[in-house]
Parts: sequence; C-alpha cells; structure tokens
Amino acid sequence: MNGLMMNTPLLISSIAEHAAKFHGDREIVSVTGDNPCHRCTIGEAISRAKQLANALGKLGLKQGDRIATIAWNDYRHLEIYYGVSGSGYVCHTINPRLFAEQLIFIINHAEDRFIFVDAMFVPLLEALADKIPNVEGFIVLTDEAHMPETSLRNVLCYETFIGAESSHFDWPELDERTASALCYTSGTTGDPKGVLYDHRSTILHAYASLAPDVMGLSSRDVVLPVVPLFHVNAWGIPYSVLMAGAKLVFPGPKMGDGEALYGLMDSENVTLALGVPTVWLALLQYTEKAGKRLDKLDRSIVGGAAVPRAMIEAFRDKHDVEVRQGWGMTEMSPVGAVNTIKAGLEKLSPDDLLDLATKAGRGLYGCELRIVDDGGNELEWDGQAYGALQVRGPWICSDYFKLEGSAGSHTDDGWFDTGDVAIIDPQGYMTITDRTKDVIKSGGEWISSIELENTAMGHPAVAEAAVIGVAHPKWTERPLLVVVKAEDQDVSKEEMLAFFEGKVATWWVPSDVAFVDELPHTATGKVKKIELRRQFADYQLPD
Ligand code: ADP
Repeated sequence: MNGLMMNTPLLISSIAEHAAKFHGDREIVSVTGDNPCHRCTIGEAISRAKQLANALGKLGLKQGDRIATIAWNDYRHLEIYYGVSGSGYVCHTINPRLFAEQLIFIINHAEDRFIFVDAMFVPLLEALADKIPNVEGFIVLTDEAHMPETSLRNVLCYETFIGAESSHFDWPELDERTASALCYTSGTTGDPKGVLYDHRSTILHAYASLAPDVMGLSSRDVVLPVVPLFHVNAWGIPYSVLMAGAKLVFPGPKMGDGEALYGLMDSENVTLALGVPTVWLALLQYTEKAGKRLDKLDRSIVGGAAVPRAMIEAFRDKHDVEVRQGWGMTEMSPVGAVNTIKAGLEKLSPDDLLDLATKAGRGLYGCELRIVDDGGNELEWDGQAYGALQVRGPWICSDYFKLEGSAGSHTDDGWFDTGDVAIIDPQGYMTITDRTKDVIKSGGEWISSIELENTAMGHPAVAEAAVIGVAHPKWTERPLLVVVKAEDQDVSKEEMLAFFEGKVATWWVPSDVAFVDELPHTATGKVKKIELRRQFADYQLPD
C-alpha cells in the first residue's frame, strides 16, 4: 500500500521560488571583473535568473542541452545556475585553470551549445575557438561598457542579452530526475569524466548540507564560498544557501588572495567560509603577517584535501574559529563526510580534540560508506584496518556522462569506488590515508603519504609539504618529502627528518627531503602528485 502524500518533484526552481519569497531581501555581495563591490539581493538575482530563462528560450535550445560557464564566483554565475538548470537545460561548469587540451576535450565531449564566459577568460577561449566548432555562441558576463574586443564568433553581452527580457517566467514542471548540471573530474588519470547531476540529487544534497552537524546553515549566516562555482557546484552552496536564506559573499577573481579574503570577511561579517586547505594557507599567512584576527568568523569548512593539524590549531587557537573538515568528491555532489564533535567526545583534552579534527569526518545521512580489502570483503571499523573506500547514496553518480559502464568505477553490487584508501574508527570517524594511486608501497606495506604530509606541516618552517613514493631497489618504494619553506624560515634536511621521530613509525620516516620553491597544484588547488612524481622520476635516494 502506498502512502497518501503528494508526489511533488524536487526541483532547483523550487529553491529559487522559496528564496525569493522568504529571503528576497537577503544580500549578495560580489567582487567581479567589472565591479570591485557589487551588491544585490537574492530577490533581484532570482528576477534576473528569470530574465535569463526568457532569453535562453529564444536560442532554440531543447531540454537537456548543455550550456557552459567559465567564470568566477559572483552573482551572475549564480543567476546562470538557476536560469539554466531551472529551465531544464544542463549547466556545465568549466574550470578555467584546466589545460587547453582538457578544455577542448570537455567542451566537445559535453557538446556545449553556448558558453557564458567572464571577460577575463575571453582570450582563453579565443586560443581554442577553432577547436570547438560546435559552440554556437559566447555570452560575455559583463555590461556593454566593459565588453572586450574579441575575435570570438557570435558574441553577446550578458547584460544586453537579459536586459530587455521580462522577469516573469513560469519554471517548467520537470521530472525530478532531469539532468541539471555537469562537472568533469580533473582527469588526473586519463581523460576527464563527466558527472551529471540531477534536480533530485541536488536538492537532497542541499537538504543534507543544512544539518547542524554538516554545514549547519541558517538564515543568520553570512557565507563566503572560496570553493569555486566552476567545480562541483561549489560544494552545493548555491543551493543550500538559498534554501537557508543566508547572505552570500562572492570573492570573484580574488579566490587566492589572503588579504582580499580577509577584507571581505571583516567588512561583510562573514560567519562561515568554505575552501580547500591551500586558500586558507594564504589567508592565515596574511593574518599572521598583518597581525589581524578573524573576529567575526565562526566556522570554516575545509575539505577537498587533508587538512593539516597545524592549520586547524591556528584557526582554533589564534582566531577562535572552528574548522570542520569535510570529505567528498566530484562524483558525490560532493559531500560524503563532515567532522564535528559527536556527543560524548566534548570533554576530550584540547590536544585530543585536535587529533580528532584531523580526521576526514563521519559519513552523513544519505551517504553510506564501507571499506573493503583487495578481495572486496568488508573491513571492520576498528581504527586499524584500511581498505578501498566505497560509497552509495542518492547524490552519488551511478555512471559517467556518455561512458555507459565502461569506466569500471562501480562494483557489481552497486557501490561507487572512490579511489581513496581509508580507516574508519569505532565511532565512525574516517581517516583518508591516501588516494589508491598515491599510496607508498614500501617492503610490501603501505605508508600513508597524507599522514607524513600532515606531520611535516606541523613544523613551523614548513609552508607546504608533499610526500611521494620514489623507486627503491630493496623496498620497491620509499617516501620522499618535498618541502616549500615558510617565508624567512630555515630548516635543514636533518632537522626535518628528526622532526618525524616519535610521531610516526620509524620505517615511515621519509628517506630524503627535497626543498623546492613551489609545488605544482591542480586546477582546484590541490598538490598535483602526478606532476611531482614526474619531476622526481629520476631522483636518487641516498643509500
Ligand atoms: P579532483 O581532485 O580530481 O578535482 P575532487 O575534487 O572530486 O577531484 O577530489 C576528490 C578527492 O579529494 C577525494 O577522492 C580525496 O582523495 C580528496 N579529498 C577530499 N577531501 C579530503 C579530505 N578531507 N582528506 C583527504 N583527502 C580528501
């Protein structure tokens, strides 16, 4: 017997309607390429999203067509999120930091019909325009006064494109399984793969994000997403924040600028900021140097890579800011686990609480987790056993766009293999010890590169650290620590290695240290281990 409840589809347009009605006067502050401080309200942004929907309706598009964006975090990008997905098209966000070949591959694979582009990325597209012949037109995200000269064909100005349209639009009643957005993985192995989100998965993920032990979003929050709208929907922030009615502060092109981020946090009273560890390094370096304190910030959600203990400690002890580590991936919309203190653990010592906070978090309701051994057998959550981490749930991809089962990413019993190796403790806290492909295999045992990196980051002279496996005649591989020194600080190889004593097993201590000026980063700000391994491919470890 079925229940007798309404079968209302979960649609992104319903967030727009809710937000405009209940939180229409809440502010959105943006740094953009054409305005250092643009202010509008949620209500205005939704009206403009409807103008955009009307304009799109004249382009001869059909449901499911892909419309791309290459843009920073600002109000116009947010309008596109709603205008495009709400109308039944697929909003394909593209990472501008990808290489030209990857951009060409992605745009052609997605069969993008139009591209919304920030003026500063126009030259990027000009350079590859003849390799993306199927794109019918480009809409530059600015007004007529700031339109760049360009050789691109069929170019429109965003403000003119939407300007004459009505702000009345009846959102179509779509099936909730309709595709809404597309994001390609970074393609660290092989070609990038497209993850195709739908309305239902997006809404469920946003609902889950609101929970107190996840992001804990309320209408009283002021949220600064330093996670890009061009990657995994900025962790779902455009949806969850509009559900909650919080104020949004968009950093535009200032994402990696510690001083600018501090300025925004201070002037706009930001209570919650989200980003990968690298951007917070820039912020903390700035506050340290300038003698500033993050007085207004309440919590910071940090994920996308392991969060060093020293960073959590600096946020907590210098700024009284709670760091919530999160774990997830593009294929998971992305949130799968978040680290908050579970009932019964509040009384741990400050040091033990720091140890706890270095873990990737507990799985949230809606994302099932399991760890399995090489034979696919489920492992105990005993805080010791480590294995391949697999997930299942309504906001996890069931396949990749146009790959139909050929990626080998799912198990026969329907779980997604994350490619991460993890340990889960009896309380359910998970520690990511490595990517399957980054794990260091030494003498038949595994060494966690992440744990070594976190340890190294605890040394005051270390600004950034990465550990890779280097070929070794006896042990197969041994860890090499690659370090970027903090400004005005020095540390010798011997001091660095001595720092590991007593902190990790003796045989885990890196076999050597290399000092470099900078580490290669991926487009999302993570250390690019593939590139680092290439750089150190012929590295000779000392005997
Ligand atoms: P890409 O790195 O290709 O852009 P994602 O953004 O989807 O792809 O990154 C997902 C990966 O990032 C995860 O599979 C995991 O390896 C890593 N990651 C994310 N959060 C954490 C975390 N808290 N601790 C350790 N690794 C993490």
